[in-house]
Amino acid sequence: MGASSRLKSRYDGPALIVHGGAGGRAPEAEQPERRRALLQAATAGGAILRDGGRALDAVIEAVRILEDHPLFNAGFGSCLTRDGTIEMDAGIMVAKKDLRNSTPQIEAGGAILVSRVRNPVLLAQLVMERTPHVLMAGRSAEQLARQNGLAMCRMSSLITPRARCRWLAAARRNSPDPAHEHGTVGAAAVDHAGNLAAATSTGGVAGKLCGRIGDSAIPGCGVFADSRAAVSATGVGEVILKLGLARRAAAELVGRTPQAAVTRALAHVADDGNGEAGLILVDRTGRFGYAHNAPAMEIATFHPIAGVRHLSVRSSRA
Ligand code: ASP
Repeated sequence: MGASSRLKSRYDGPALIVHGGAGGRAPEAEQPERRRALLQAATAGGAILRDGGRALDAVIEAVRILEDHPLFNAGFGSCLTRDGTIEMDAGIMVAKKDLRNSTPQIEAGGAILVSRVRNPVLLAQLVMERTPHVLMAGRSAEQLARQNGLAMCRMSSLITPRARCRWLAAARRNSPDPAHEHGTVGAAAVDHAGNLAAATSTGGVAGKLCGRIGDSAIPGCGVFADSRAAVSATGVGEVILKLGLARRAAAELVGRTPQAAVTRALAHVADDGNGEAGLILVDRTGRFGYAHNAPAMEIATFHPIAGVRHLSVRSSRA
């Protein structure tokens, strides 16, 4: 075992990992800006952790920044449905360390099929903290947002010229984007107190039918946290949902490193057919795992010793 991995296995949080989706490779002209945005999200979430803040606040801040960025498929810049509308999903999950009890307190919240909130991840937090429920959808979820003072908007103000052009091009071809749209966002973190949290936010898959629900907001599928790890998944929701992919990645940690755990979880995606997926994971000691089988996936990490880093992750598909 090298010196750095010895250091990592002893290390006890905080740490944060952020992704910008697994899917088709982003156009070259967009790559520097995507990289800058991911670094900004990791820096902002990392600053919260460095100041002793909560993993939950760190992942929400990282995801909120990327939702506001037009190059990612979440919040402003979400991809369009077949009908040219926007329907977004976002979810969060937390495992709060309970010092009197070895079992953590697990909480989750998600907003699905929302079109009029600027930051769906903040609505997911409201569902978790202000209602007795885990998931809320559509108009009623948006009403909760309005009642609690979240920034509301017209659906049209979330549609970027880029998303509109892609939609028009797909309509002309009479098929959705050939490459799975890239740009769902997610984050996973552990804080000083040992709490783990994950958040995922998406516009879904390009050309989806109205009313289609993906994996991103669903606990255990696109987002997961338990006593071992926090996980965010990205890729084809229909595959991730059936596999319960994020929970599976955490379960694979038993006796394995985080990197081996996400790699094994992804192998189930390959077994299941041709779905593209990606995973990021942070364990309770602050070690990272990340893997995908799509053409491209980028991540950024924050670690108090290593600082903030950006990485284009190599695909597991040869
Ligand atoms: N998983 C998301 C969905 O199916 C899309 C993605 O991650 O790219 O809605």
